[in-house]
Amino acid sequence: MSGRLAIVGLGPGAPSMQTAQATAALAAATDLVGYAAYLDRVPARPGQVRHASDNRVELDRARHALSLAAGGRDVAVVSSGDPGVFAMASAVFEAVEHGEPAWRTLDIVVVPGLSAGFAAAARLGAPLGHDFCVLSLSDNLKPFDVVLARLVAAASAGFVIALYNAASRARPWQLGAALDALRPILPGTTPVALATAISRADERIDIATLSDVDPARADMRTLVLIGSAATRRIERDGAPPWLYTPRFYGGAT
Ligand code: SAH
Repeated sequence: MSGRLAIVGLGPGAPSMQTAQATAALAAATDLVGYAAYLDRVPARPGQVRHASDNRVELDRARHALSLAAGGRDVAVVSSGDPGVFAMASAVFEAVEHGEPAWRTLDIVVVPGLSAGFAAAARLGAPLGHDFCVLSLSDNLKPFDVVLARLVAAASAGFVIALYNAASRARPWQLGAALDALRPILPGTTPVALATAISRADERIDIATLSDVDPARADMRTLVLIGSAATRRIERDGAPPWLYTPRFYGGAT
């Protein structure tokens, strides 16, 4: 088969946070496939065909991209952040595993991107400097009691937590419930940051604690960073505090 499929991470938003490899893969494609809001971030190129779809239809989108590639096209599937983190790369491999045998012979490449958790952490300081855990709060693809059990296990084990898919219009109460589940485990002074639309024009960062964080401030573009008992806060005059987690176990100096 002659077609190619690149699964491309666009980074968190700003063009400067997109890798050169991603830019080159997008420029080389004959066809772009993805959620319309992500395709809008890719500059138009004459002759390039765009296949925009709704956000919820990842598997259909993956099969469509694979069929185009099997037909000889040079396809780029786009994801925000990194395509392997709660995004299209897994959907493509689900489709390959269960789909047409010929799809296994396609030239598929995953082009990494800067994931929201890392972009948010960089704005805050270095909260992911020691062991951390990445979780999705979405209960679209797993039951909410599993979400809560994993969250409680991660916090109990002392991991800093980067929480993706923290809120949306369809999931308005889950973040509040998640924070409530953590309150018996972590001190009320534990830093919690809501990092919204990082690297976009309307970027917003709330730095709070587990006792006073307001979950209503989170939306579908918010990454929630929950510190561990070791995560430190460095106060600064006239600027937001830095959050960081020391590199050594326990965080003591
Ligand atoms: N593949 C993406 C994550 C997709 S899940 C990545 O690696 O970043 C979608 C979630 O990512 C959102 O609900 C939000 O939690 C987070 N997210 C994506 N872009 C973001 C941004 N610019 N700022 C903060 N969080 C973001």
